[in-house]
Amino acid sequence: MTESVRPLTDLTEEQQMLVSEVRRFCEEMVQPKVAEMDREAHCAPEILQQMFEMGLMGIDIPEEYGGSGMSFFDAILVIMELAKVDPSISVICDVQNTLVNNAIQRWGNEEQRKTWLSKLAENTVGCYCLSEAESGSDAFALRARAVADGDGWKVTGNKLFITNGKEAGVFLVFANADPDKGYKGITCFILDKDMPGLKIGAKEDKLGIRASSTVEVILDNVQVGPERILGEVGKGYKVAIETLNEGRIGIGAQMVGLAEGALAHARAWCLERKQFGREIAKFQGVQFALARMDAEIEAAKLAVLNAARRKEAGEPFVREAAIAKWFSAEVADRCSSMAVELYGGYGFSRDYPVEKLFRDAKIGKIYEGTHFMQLQTIAKLLLAD
Ligand SMILES: Cc1cc2nc3c(=O)[nH]c(=O)nc-3n(C[C@H](O)[C@H](O)[C@H](O)COP(=O)(O)OP(=O)(O)OC[C@H]3O[C@@H](n4cnc5c(N)ncnc54)[C@H](O)[C@@H]3O)c2cc1C
Repeated sequence: MTESVRPLTDLTEEQQMLVSEVRRFCEEMVQPKVAEMDREAHCAPEILQQMFEMGLMGIDIPEEYGGSGMSFFDAILVIMELAKVDPSISVICDVQNTLVNNAIQRWGNEEQRKTWLSKLAENTVGCYCLSEAESGSDAFALRARAVADGDGWKVTGNKLFITNGKEAGVFLVFANADPDKGYKGITCFILDKDMPGLKIGAKEDKLGIRASSTVEVILDNVQVGPERILGEVGKGYKVAIETLNEGRIGIGAQMVGLAEGALAHARAWCLERKQFGREIAKFQGVQFALARMDAEIEAAKLAVLNAARRKEAGEPFVREAAIAKWFSAEVADRCSSMAVELYGGYGFSRDYPVEKLFRDAKIGKIYEGTHFMQLQTIAKLLLAD
């Protein structure tokens, strides 16, 4: 079979090894802690530590900077695999790889790559600080400001809903350095947690992905030197758009993994649970529900892997990434909901695993561009001349 017709779901030997290693880690270390981490809304430090040790926090960072030297496609496979067991752990890995590491690799100069990528690969969590209380979908209406001060800047603003913020050592912060130029004043700065004026505010008490921290990041006249500008002054909007376009493929992967997890639980339950004297999997209605989940997951997975493949090959992928995120979030929502129904009353109980996946699924339609914003991107490209 030639390379061009190899099915997208066929993995190379190295990729199979990577996925098996992540699966083993999930079974041994993550699975036993999923319910407790959800209940207590925290990520067990040893899980984070192990992810660094396995190279999962710097998957496509080149080896010369201490990373695993793998590819963006490999990162997508890892994010998907982690989400089968815990979508919260998956998003910690996703934000690190597809947003933070990605932005620094793409826009950083050699000095910045050396300084920051090695930390991110080794032991430092990163976060991506774009959203604010009044700017979510309309991200470029952000109010954070960078005021010129000597040869550097003073950054002030409040960032909201920041994933990984509690654990983070590195903060990619978007602030406007020239509001008269509108979004063309937006600039991306690389900050670190020990900088005077940077504080972590309240942590959100969330519906789902509760083991992943979501916090406010408060910036009060944080003094930054020019060496902390990522890309160029006024080009932060490009950094944001382009990293988020890629990041969406990661959220698609998270949602596909979540749906696969829901199907695996539902399948096992239906083969075990008996009503009317037989396993409920013997009823055609139940079989069709499971079959539909399987079919939708396959289609969503192909959409995600296709978007990842196109991005990696340097082909246009914005439409494919938006479709992948939109469709995967639909599928995750439907599959986790059906899994709850197939579990019957047990599905509604916190003592069983599927209600958590149902709660976790909702975020796929909200972050990194809401469900409607994905449709807006798809429609814009569809209707362009
Ligand atoms: C758990 C979690 C983690 C997050 N992590 C991060 C992070 O790490 N970094 C970060 O910067 N942000 C993060 N966010 C923020 C997230 O990206 C925003 O919440 C999201 O972009 C939506 O913005 P909003 O909440 O302000 O909703 P709004 O933009 O106010 O949207 C509200 C509703 O209006 C609709 N809407 C808005 N504009 C339009 C339009 N033009 N056409 C049609 N419908 C429209 C939306 O689709 C939505 O249904 C996170 C959020 C959550 C909940």
